[in-house]
Amino acid sequence: KCGERETCLNGISRDDLDVGQILGEGFFGEVHKGVYKSPTGERVNVAIKTCKDCSADVKEKFLSEAELMKNLDHPHIVRLIGVIEVDPVWIVMELYSHGELGKYLVEQQYILTNATLILYCVQICKALAYLEGLSMVHRDIAVRNVLVASPECVKLGDFGLSRYIDEQEYYKATISRLPIKWMAPESINFRRFTTASDVWMFGVCVWEIFSLAQQPFFWLENGQVINHLESGVRLPKPQHCPPTLYALLTRCWAYEPHARPSFYQLACSLSDIHRTEMEQ
Ligand code: ADP
Repeated sequence: KCGERETCLNGISRDDLDVGQILGEGFFGEVHKGVYKSPTGERVNVAIKTCKDCSADVKEKFLSEAELMKNLDHPHIVRLIGVIEVDPVWIVMELYSHGELGKYLVEQQYILTNATLILYCVQICKALAYLEGLSMVHRDIAVRNVLVASPECVKLGDFGLSRYIDEQEYYKATISRLPIKWMAPESINFRRFTTASDVWMFGVCVWEIFSLAQQPFFWLENGQVINHLESGVRLPKPQHCPPTLYALLTRCWAYEPHARPSFYQLACSLSDIHRTEMEQ
């Protein structure tokens, strides 16, 4: 069905989609809500990503996210439904109606418990342990890239910057688009991205969750961050973050990439912390 294209995306037909209202603005264009009628007749709520100025170059970048996502299957990773490859090109994903975790944390701050916040961390960590097993680096782990499927379930998304690590190519982002305040020192200094730099970013994402989506290092300019990190400064413990969890974060922020824990180890430690919190 997908012609000569070497890599076949999950092609679906536009006739099976009802496009609804705008959900938000993505990097490439508007994201709409919609309904997809699957071949089995099931109606699935979806998010449809569109691509505004889709020249051949842009289209390739736009579709690279779907290309990666089609190989992923995890309960805490955004699920790709399919792609419409004829212009206008669309990427269709499962809809997570509670939206971005960053906004959700602010809206629900008075009802979210510590146990729930730790649960989100465990779920994101398991998604990343799964990527670690596939030798895939995400490179943009932050609450803005996590979607809320239900009050007890979050999904890691936005694979726009992701790469398999054996691939030596760099993402051609201008420096200003890089999320400096989330990045490991070696990523800032040498644009080096590995599973260990993802672990650093995950630590920052946990910090965001417990700070209810404050911006990390909001008190610094981007250009000042690396000097602070090199002189040993780290993000402070958020008020409601359990000390055991903060101790784990400081290990994710070891200057030496090798000294950081793996996602597999982190998932075990976080599950323990979650269990302790539930018992209280
Ligand atoms: P991009 O990565 O291209 O910048 P995003 O993935 O950030 O685009 O999407 C833009 C907005 O659309 C997000 O802020 C979010 O509110 C909404 N959105 C994207 N995907 C979904 C989804 N699967 N379910 C619900 N909302 C979504």
